[in-house]
Amino acid sequence: MKGFTVLVMVFGPVSMGMARPVPRAALTVLIGDTMGIDASSLHSAAALAWRIVDKAGVHTEWTACPASGPERASQPRCLSRVPRPDLLLWILPSVVTGHPAPRVAMGMALPGNPGELGKHAYIYYDRVRSAAQFCGCDEVRTLGHAIAHEIGHLLGNTHSTSGIMRADWNRGDLVAMSRGHVLFSPEEARRIRANVAQRLGTPLANTHRQRKPERKAGLMP
Ligand SMILES: [Zn+2]
Repeated sequence: MKGFTVLVMVFGPVSMGMARPVPRAALTVLIGDTMGIDASSLHSAAALAWRIVDKAGVHTEWTACPASGPERASQPRCLSRVPRPDLLLWILPSVVTGHPAPRVAMGMALPGNPGELGKHAYIYYDRVRSAAQFCGCDEVRTLGHAIAHEIGHLLGNTHSTSGIMRADWNRGDLVAMSRGHVLFSPEEARRIRANVAQRLGTPLANTHRQRKPERKAGLMP
């Protein structure tokens, strides 16, 4: 059976001519939910994605802003904590007009403008839910891996024939994600480290500081 097409992305030329950024310690990632996922599930999915990216060897700081329950009213304040995130991913209920995503893609990462690195990505939650239901898998873990896949695109990776960057996740992939982590390959991790170093203006060796994720008012490192 054909698997679910996870994500799509189109990258143009990105790095030539970029101004050298002022060195910073960590890449900032902002996850904004418009779907109304409960806050606990959103934090769990974002923490899983953070962990997968962290395993690639880069230091990132994540903020997840729920749009459900009592936290809904505080979302603008949450979003304002990271006014200029390096990466911004929105969780949408479904694909929106104008997004050139294949019919079953779970999300999409946008290329950067000429001379810039990509910054924006989207998840289409109805497709995440369908994929999880298809295999009887954990919806939150499926979401976490989908987020990591999109972030993987923004950090310089295209699709691969296996692992988290596969375009078509089959039942086996989804089950593996439901039971544990599916990580970036060593080569994908190398591209991520190089991409993050470029964004932060730091040498490769200085991009990673091991730190466990914390849950505190929607913030995750
Ligand atoms: Zn993809």
